[in-house]
Amino acid sequence: MHHDVIVLGAGLAGLAAARDLVAGGTDVLVLEARDRVGGRVEQTVLPDGRLVQLGGEVVGRGHTAYLGLVEELGLTLVRSYVAEPGNMARATPEGISADEPPHWFGPGDEVRHQRVTAAFVALARSVHPGDPWAHPDAAALDRTSVGAWLRSEGATPAVVRLWEIGQLALASGSLERTSLLAALRKHAAVPGSEHYDYEDWEGLRVAEGSATVALCMADELGHRIRTGSPVAAVDVRPGGCTVRLTNGETLRSDAVVSALPVGPFRALSVTGVSDERLASLRRQRQAVTAKFVAAYDQPFWRLRDLNGLSECEGVLGSTWPQNTGILSALIPPERYGVLLGMPAHLREDELLDDIARLYGAEAHKPLASYLRLWGTDPWTQGYVTQWTPGDVMAVGPLHGTHEPPFYVCGSDQWVAGYMEGAVRTGRAAAEEALNRD
Ligand SMILES: Cc1cc2nc3c(=O)[nH]c(=O)nc-3n(C[C@H](O)[C@H](O)[C@H](O)COP(=O)(O)OP(=O)(O)OC[C@H]3O[C@@H](n4cnc5c(N)ncnc54)[C@H](O)[C@@H]3O)c2cc1C
Repeated sequence: MHHDVIVLGAGLAGLAAARDLVAGGTDVLVLEARDRVGGRVEQTVLPDGRLVQLGGEVVGRGHTAYLGLVEELGLTLVRSYVAEPGNMARATPEGISADEPPHWFGPGDEVRHQRVTAAFVALARSVHPGDPWAHPDAAALDRTSVGAWLRSEGATPAVVRLWEIGQLALASGSLERTSLLAALRKHAAVPGSEHYDYEDWEGLRVAEGSATVALCMADELGHRIRTGSPVAAVDVRPGGCTVRLTNGETLRSDAVVSALPVGPFRALSVTGVSDERLASLRRQRQAVTAKFVAAYDQPFWRLRDLNGLSECEGVLGSTWPQNTGILSALIPPERYGVLLGMPAHLREDELLDDIARLYGAEAHKPLASYLRLWGTDPWTQGYVTQWTPGDVMAVGPLHGTHEPPFYVCGSDQWVAGYMEGAVRTGRAAAEEALNRD
């Protein structure tokens, strides 16, 4: 069977690419390993009709590609957890508080925090998000961890701890293992006055459910998607490409768009693509994360004047309300091993203990709970892009570029992952392929 373009992976990136290619008059086939579409966006429904998001959920006003797609699909954007009444809590081994500044701050810490935040924001202005390699100090900035830079700028241990609890709440890897250049690039892509602006990155959600974005695109694509079709090998030639499935079936096309996460991509045999590109793609990594969701009758945290948003130093790194009465939580990469070490039958109770410590004993009685081990799921092997010191330079300027007739997209091909990265790079790959025809 021959197609104009074969797209590998039916996550947001692959679906967005395929949709635009079809709109451009191209004959497309999407190959998806799982028996469902959506990849890292996935949802289920409670008996009472409330939707539960098990993967990607929130976006922000800085996520222009995603917002544009949602509008095209006729879906509705509403304010996310940022509109929930009450205060955010922080939980550390020595205490829990909803205080600002946090309970471990002492005299002078708040001033230092504001000073390093201003220095970070100013330095980020010198980085071009599309070309961080052009920065005159690119290699040095990339070699430096955010943690080391904070200390060099005069951040006290209490200030570094505040940045770290925020970083692990996002389930990104520790600041001690994050490239400063990558962090600056991420900020430069969606600039704001804070180190991480919640409105810009997380202030909105799709009312119909974030996984519905993928389902709508899949509906439009219909028979052009084949699920249950893991790809094992790709051979790329200007005269024609060959894609081999794990069951041995072979398909042919003029071009291939890879929309795979970087982990599963490494398992793929790829020939006919330059060694430099393959080395760049295989050099990328992801933060390994799990998501826990507990659904309740009521948002009982409000009784304590809390909004369900928290940053924690337990096994959970954060909680937030994804929908009325439904709490999401992330287990950051630094604690993923602790989670895997828990006997499986104890995991739910131990994670609910973390939530009960924050919000009260009501937490122990959810209507339903879900634990999704994305970090060790063979078709994801991660969560969002992780840039360890040295990685930006090692991956290099081939990041997010193409080698026709081989095109690359997926959230890992943007600055920091996210649904924005998937949609943005998917649509860009389709545009590039269409322009070449
Ligand atoms: C727990 C969690 C919470 C998140 N929260 C947010 C959030 O709130 N906001 C946000 O913006 N982002 C969030 N993200 C990130 C966001 O969901 C992803 O970055 C985005 O959905 C990735 O889309 P993608 O198309 O690039 O990759 P994926 O969605 O991973 O799609 C890749 C597809 O390729 C398939 N595949 C893999 N290997 C093969 C193979 N060999 N052959 C065929 N198919 C294959 C996979 O099954 C998958 O369907 C979250 C992610 C997770 C896991």
